[in-house]
Amino acid sequence: MKKFACLLAALLLATLFAACGNDDGASGAGSQPGGDTSAPASAVSGGESAQPAASDNTLVMATNAFFEPYEYYEGDDIVGIDAEVGKAIADKLGMDFSISDVDFDAIIPNVQSGKATMGMAGMTVTPDREKNVSFTRSYSTGIQVVIVPEGSDIASLDDMEGKMIGVQQGTTGDIYCSDTPENGGFGEENVTRYNKGSDAVMALLSGKVDCVVIDNEPAKAFVAANEGLKILDTAYAEEQYAICVAKDNQEMLEKIDTALGELIDDGTVQEIVDKYITAE
Ligand code: GLN
Repeated sequence: MKKFACLLAALLLATLFAACGNDDGASGAGSQPGGDTSAPASAVSGGESAQPAASDNTLVMATNAFFEPYEYYEGDDIVGIDAEVGKAIADKLGMDFSISDVDFDAIIPNVQSGKATMGMAGMTVTPDREKNVSFTRSYSTGIQVVIVPEGSDIASLDDMEGKMIGVQQGTTGDIYCSDTPENGGFGEENVTRYNKGSDAVMALLSGKVDCVVIDNEPAKAFVAANEGLKILDTAYAEEQYAICVAKDNQEMLEKIDTALGELIDDGTVQEIVDKYITAE
């Protein structure tokens, strides 16, 4: 538990560190295979000042659609909790709705440049991200967990020292694990980054990494879909998911936040969550 507290304390430092390392994080962008990538990550280098997409009455949600049950493909359609809550927000605001599937670490640049009205991707609120975008209230809790092969000699967080950890690039799992051991991490040299969580899980299945640190609900979906994997009982960190909006689009932030608040209060969000997550 001491380690857990230490990890949380380290989050601030870790995210500050990540701010400096943002260029690193973006270097793998642009290689999003497949999918409906209406805003290619390669075209999203930030710094542009496009008109907010909201001006044309379409609410564009930037996401990374490999994060079941929050966003994932069913045929050509992107479905999931975020996809449905996002649509419900657009409906409430009388706006059309479209989803732009980009690399996770291209979401914030897409929002900043106005290519997307909002980012919604099971995205954790962190002090570092709050420097770049504004967040709505939280709509869900996330937990970072560790996936290992059945029979792995990793039984607790301490056993991860010196092992190769797979993460999804730019996520909080990446940020925590890449940090130094003094800050509760395992060091850059012990982390392999993948563009998608599913790629990290494939690497685990083929023995390229020893474990994967990722959010609990996608972890459950990956473990259910692949034989021979399990989730460690010890959680790595607990976090809050929220929707991000450009800092200079305060009016849209308030509209989205108000709509989200109403959808939480009238039970719509819970209904959508219950559709995708069965209570244990
Ligand atoms: N919650 C994690 C984060 O915000 C992972 C989100 C994701 O992979 N879509 O970094």
